[in-house]
Amino acid sequence: MIRVCEPTLSGNEAKYVQDCLQTTMISSMGDYIKKFEHAFATYSQVKHGVAVSNGTTAIHLALEALGIGPGDEVIIPTFTMIATGNAVLYTGATPVFVDAELDTWNMDTSQIESKITEKTKAIIPVHTYGHPCDMDRINDIAKKHNLFVIEDAAEAHGAEYKGRKAGSLSDVACFSFYANKMITTGEGGMVITNNDQIAEKCRLLRNHAFVQPRFVHHQLGFNYRMTNIQAAMGLAQTENIQTFVESRIKNAQRYTELLKDVQGIECPPKKEWAKNVYWMYGILLNKSFPLSKDQLMAALRERGIGTRSFFHPLHAQPMFNNPKYKHVDTSGNFQKSQYLWQNGLYLPSSSHLTDAQIQEVVNAIKEIARNNL
Ligand SMILES: *Cc1c(COP(=O)(O)O)cnc(C)c1O
Repeated sequence: MIRVCEPTLSGNEAKYVQDCLQTTMISSMGDYIKKFEHAFATYSQVKHGVAVSNGTTAIHLALEALGIGPGDEVIIPTFTMIATGNAVLYTGATPVFVDAELDTWNMDTSQIESKITEKTKAIIPVHTYGHPCDMDRINDIAKKHNLFVIEDAAEAHGAEYKGRKAGSLSDVACFSFYANKMITTGEGGMVITNNDQIAEKCRLLRNHAFVQPRFVHHQLGFNYRMTNIQAAMGLAQTENIQTFVESRIKNAQRYTELLKDVQGIECPPKKEWAKNVYWMYGILLNKSFPLSKDQLMAALRERGIGTRSFFHPLHAQPMFNNPKYKHVDTSGNFQKSQYLWQNGLYLPSSSHLTDAQIQEVVNAIKEIARNNL
């Protein structure tokens, strides 16, 4: 079985985790938290890192730290993982959806301004599958309308926009370290920022808003702490992040080379200003491919090859049929996002994928296509 994505745990992970067990520093106190925060923030070219329990809580925490809540609107892509929208809903604010564009699979920046109202407080661009958004354009719009920008960089560790790292391009950025992300802590996340106040606020809110005297609380906090054990893994992973990023890029180039003359398959985008890290190697099937996305995925599964569908757009999620969310506007034209959902899937993308495995996946796709002509 070639799985769609597996973590690569061949560095100091076991050694550092063992150290946590030996020293009994297994909760959220311990040196690995600070070491991991420092290492990952430094890698991402920012000043502060605040490690948290997962990527979703990272986004929620960032929004809370910026004071976003009921009555506010936050602009997000409809083509994203559900967590981006859920984090906005947790605050009581309203997500406002923007369609995708086909030449990056990211939010269409030309549609952002038409979604801004007096209630808009922030924009959350998502660097989809490792390709950064056009951040100059987004930051210009935000500046003009006095909005915060929060990067959802959960899929873009190490990606670059005009030579600058994803996560360093906005007020505050959020990462996930779930098992399939570029680096993993099993479950985990981080908020990173250059802003001292935002970092301080995140540290406070992540830990129940504990202050002195202890057990006297002035605001609603959360338990979004990461454990020292997770951070130990995260530090070991960060030591190897450069290798992971390079492997994914090399694997993507190999896929693209082998797939380029397969009829009906479109390979992932890359703008000239972008360093796409290909967190997942996505393909789009167009009309000249003989099978549907679901048929191809099923046929590959039969041959022991794991794939995943592209995201189901948020505006069309059945959860919004609940009258509780009737304030969320799900109408409008989101054709590109629907198109991506209907025709997109990603192929096995682990960092340690071998050339032979890539060849096997491509051969299987070619054979399946040929058998169905
Ligand atoms: C993975 C992911 C998240 C959520 O991260 P979790 O750690 O699973 O909570 C958020 N946004 C995007 C775009 C993601 O891909």
